[in-house]
Amino acid sequence: MTNRVEKKLDLVVIGSGLAGTAATCFATARGLSVVQVSATSGELAFASGLLDLLEVYPLDEKKHWDNPWEGLEALIAGSPRHPFAKIGIERIRKAIEKFTRFAAEAGFPYRGYADRNVRIPTAAGTVKPTFRVPESMWWGALALDRRLPALVIDFEGMKDFNAKLMAEMLRRQWPLLRAKRFPFPSKLTGDDRSVPVLADAMETAATVRGIADLVAPHIEGCQALGVPAILGIRSTAAIIAALEERLGVHVFEIPTMPPAITGFRMREAFEKSLTELGAEILRGRLALSARIDDGKCTGIVTGRNEWRETFEPEGVILATGRFLGGGLTAGRTEIRENLFGLPVAQPKDRESWHRENFLDERGHPANEAGIEIDSDFRPLGPDGRAAFENVFAAGSILAHQNWVRTKSGGGLAVATAYAAVEAFLKARGESGR
Ligand SMILES: Cc1cc2nc3c(=O)[nH]c(=O)nc-3n(C[C@H](O)[C@H](O)[C@H](O)COP(=O)(O)OP(=O)(O)OC[C@H]3O[C@@H](n4cnc5c(N)ncnc54)[C@H](O)[C@@H]3O)c2cc1C
Repeated sequence: MTNRVEKKLDLVVIGSGLAGTAATCFATARGLSVVQVSATSGELAFASGLLDLLEVYPLDEKKHWDNPWEGLEALIAGSPRHPFAKIGIERIRKAIEKFTRFAAEAGFPYRGYADRNVRIPTAAGTVKPTFRVPESMWWGALALDRRLPALVIDFEGMKDFNAKLMAEMLRRQWPLLRAKRFPFPSKLTGDDRSVPVLADAMETAATVRGIADLVAPHIEGCQALGVPAILGIRSTAAIIAALEERLGVHVFEIPTMPPAITGFRMREAFEKSLTELGAEILRGRLALSARIDDGKCTGIVTGRNEWRETFEPEGVILATGRFLGGGLTAGRTEIRENLFGLPVAQPKDRESWHRENFLDERGHPANEAGIEIDSDFRPLGPDGRAAFENVFAAGSILAHQNWVRTKSGGGLAVATAYAAVEAFLKARGESGR
C-alpha cells in the first residue's frame, strides 16, 4: 500500500454536493488553503441548479410562503433545533448573497427577487417555487408571471421532455403557451437524443442557427420561447443571446429531469473558479478514516484502492450528505454516521422511521435524522458536547430538518456551509467579516 502524508493545510472539506462546494467557496474566498475530497465525481452534476430557500413550513399545516424570509422567521421561532435557527436571518441572507456573487463571478449567474420566491415552469408542466434560478431560466419565470404569449419547443426523439404535455398541464395558469416539436437540426451520430448529447451539439453555431430557422415561422405573436435546458455546456449565455437576436423574443430554458445539464454547468464553473483560487479539488477520493488526538481531528486519511493520502488540516468540514450522499447509512436497526461514528439523532426504533402513507405531506421521521451540532456547527458526541474541537458540519447531514419537504435544500446547504466556515475561523480566533 502506498501512503503519502500531505503538508499541513487549513481545511479539508469532505463532500462535493452543494454544501461541500459552498463551504469550499466561502473558505477560499477567505484566503484559506482548502482540499475538497469527495467519493463521487460531484453531486452537483445531478442538481437542477435551482436554489430553494424555503417554501413550506410547518409541514403538518402545509403552509406555503411566498416570501421565504417570513417563512424563515416562522421556522426559527417554531423549530429552534432546525439548523436555520442556529444561523439567524441576517447570516442566512449574507450567505446567499455571497454564494450567488461567487457563482456570478464563476460564470454561473443567478436571478431572483429580493423578498419573494420565483415560480418557474417545469418540464412536467408544474410550477416550481424556488428562490434563485440560473439566469438561463429567468425569462420562464417572468413570462409565466406575466402570462406572456409564448412558444415551448422540444425535439423528436427526446426522452423525458414533452412540450405539448407541458403546455397542456399549464393551460389554466398560462393560457397563451403553445407547443411545437421539431427535428433536431444537426446530424448526430446514433439515436441518442439525451440532454448531454443535445447540449454538446448546441455548442456549434450552425445548430443554433438551425433552431432559429426552424422556430422563426412559428414564433409570430409570441414574446418568449421556452427550450428544454440543452442550450450548451459552456456557451449558454451566448447561445441564448444569438437565439434572441435572430427571433426577436426572450429565450429561456426549462429545467429537465436529473441528471440535468444545469447541474453539470454549475459543477464545471465552480470547479474551474475554485481551482483558480487555489483550492485542490479531488474527485473519486473517499475519506476513509479520521485520526483523532486529544479531542481534535489531526488527520483525514483518504484513498482509492490500495493508495492512501493523509491530510493534516487545522479543521474539517463534514458535508457528506445523508443516505444518497453516503454520510449516513440506514442499518437493520439504526442509522449510522459513516466517517467519525458520530451519534445520529433518529427515531427510537425502526418501526417509527416511516409514516404509514409513503406520500405523507409531513415527511418521514427518518428524513429528519442526522447529526446534531452545537451553536458553532460542531457535531455533538455521545455526552452532548462538541465531539471534536475542529470538526464542523454542514448540509443535509444535519438533523432536525427535512429539506425535501420544506423545499429548502440549496439554501440550507449554502447557509450551513457559511456558518461552518465562519465557525472554523472563529475557533481560530479570526473574526467574521
Ligand atoms: C437530483 C437532485 C435535485 C436537486 N434539486 C434541487 C432543487 O431543485 N433545489 C435546490 O435548492 N436544491 C436541489 N438539489 C440540491 C440539494 O439541495 C442538495 O444537494 C442537498 O441539500 C444535499 O446537499 P449536501 O451537499 O449536503 O449533500 P450531497 O449532495 O448528498 O453530497 C454529499 C457528498 O459527500 C460525499 N461523500 C460522502 N461520504 C464521503 C466520504 N466518506 N468521503 C468522501 N466523500 C464523501 C459524496 O460523494 C457527495 O459528494 C438537488 C440535488 C439533487 C441530487
